[in-house]
Amino acid sequence: MSNVIVIGGGPAGMICAGKAAAEGNNVILIEKNEKLGKKLFITGKGRCNFTSNCEVEEIFDNVVHNKKFLYSSIYNFTNKDTIEFFNKLGLKEKVERGGRVFPESDKSSDVIKALDKYVKQNGVKVMLKTEVASIFYEEGRVNGVELKDGTRLAAEKVVVATGGLTYSQTGSTGDGYKFAEEAGHRINEIEGALIPLETKESFVKDLQGLSLKNVSVSLYEGKKLKETTFGEMIFTHFGVSGPMILSLSSRMKKNKKYSIKIDLKAALDNDTLDRRIVRDFEKNSNKILKNSMDDLLPQRLIPIIIRLSGIKEDKIVNQISKEERLKLVQTLKGMELEITSKAHLDLGIITAGGVDTKEINPQTMESKKVPGLYFAGEVIDVDALTGGFNLQIAFSTGYLAGTDFK
Ligand SMILES: Cc1cc2nc3c(=O)[nH]c(=O)nc-3n(C[C@H](O)[C@H](O)[C@H](O)COP(=O)(O)OP(=O)(O)OC[C@H]3O[C@@H](n4cnc5c(N)ncnc54)[C@H](O)[C@@H]3O)c2cc1C
Repeated sequence: MSNVIVIGGGPAGMICAGKAAAEGNNVILIEKNEKLGKKLFITGKGRCNFTSNCEVEEIFDNVVHNKKFLYSSIYNFTNKDTIEFFNKLGLKEKVERGGRVFPESDKSSDVIKALDKYVKQNGVKVMLKTEVASIFYEEGRVNGVELKDGTRLAAEKVVVATGGLTYSQTGSTGDGYKFAEEAGHRINEIEGALIPLETKESFVKDLQGLSLKNVSVSLYEGKKLKETTFGEMIFTHFGVSGPMILSLSSRMKKNKKYSIKIDLKAALDNDTLDRRIVRDFEKNSNKILKNSMDDLLPQRLIPIIIRLSGIKEDKIVNQISKEERLKLVQTLKGMELEITSKAHLDLGIITAGGVDTKEINPQTMESKKVPGLYFAGEVIDVDALTGGFNLQIAFSTGYLAGTDFK
């Protein structure tokens, strides 16, 4: 039996603490917030997409950085294990589009309750409103943590599960990077990932809050098409966001120029769309253009699409040339926006970068530099696409870090 301290009461820390206690250790879980799982609460728009029901191998296709590092932890505690784990704690799941797994109740709070139950039933001592200031060492190995108020708590094993550096109001303020650095670990460059994008076009401000469904968005690096996705997006006061945009942001590299093309009529090919516009124009032949497109587009997009097509918005429909109409089709099938940058780091769903995976033993999550020091969850330099994969990483790495191999 050892004294184990887990820093951070997010998903990685909670599962880790519960598992370590189930193995017979004396475990303290320290969380600086007034409650556990503050970020978990806002996941999946409050519904918490807690894993995926895909084949285990497919998880790795969705990991953006350092997938190989995750082989041991994910095979040791797979997505199927996650579902079974929650079932045993009384939480039923449901599967939605793309294999996304949610609690049947649609409440992220039920996921937190289940983890809380796991922590408590195994006898973990939970310290809330308690902030760890540093980790201390003796003779080259972990010896405990020092709290902000100066109290020292001794432990043979300390797990850093402090999360990343985004949505910092939830408590993820990057403390784990500092702890790791002080222990001699390398921190790979921190960046917000699954993040909204800022655009050069300031007219997006007029579209703020407008959400588009069933559109496709293509990401271009220079002139090269990188990826096209289909689904939902939303305009913000600075650019674009929504599920598709967040995923595409993970394909963007530093110092490259990007643009996106939005196909507003993804279900129709150019000819079909043109025929549809011809029919609309015949019906509205004496109206001015901006008053003739209500069936085609949301109101707020109409003046912008007309402007981008280079047509005068008060032109009478029957005066529009074929050339102008084809330009309109072209704009509807490829509304182009230039990406100036990713949004502010804090708006990232997750943090890319973090504690270098080369310096962590993938089979235990123990530091290769300092015995007794462990890492779990987002603090590690791993990140994945949307779909429940980031929480699966938190659960798999947390569970492994809580497992005793001695
Ligand atoms: C809006 C949003 C929606 C998301 N939706 C999903 C989703 O549906 N599915 C999915 O898979 N992923 C989702 N994610 C990502 C997911 O929430 C994270 O990957 C996951 O929470 C990481 O878990 P973690 O335990 O490593 O860190 P966190 O959840 O960030 O937990 C870290 C904890 O450590 C505490 N802490 C930090 N420093 C200290 C300290 N010094 N002392 C004491 N405590 C400390 C913090 O207060 C925090 O509670 C979403 C993220 C956001 C922001």
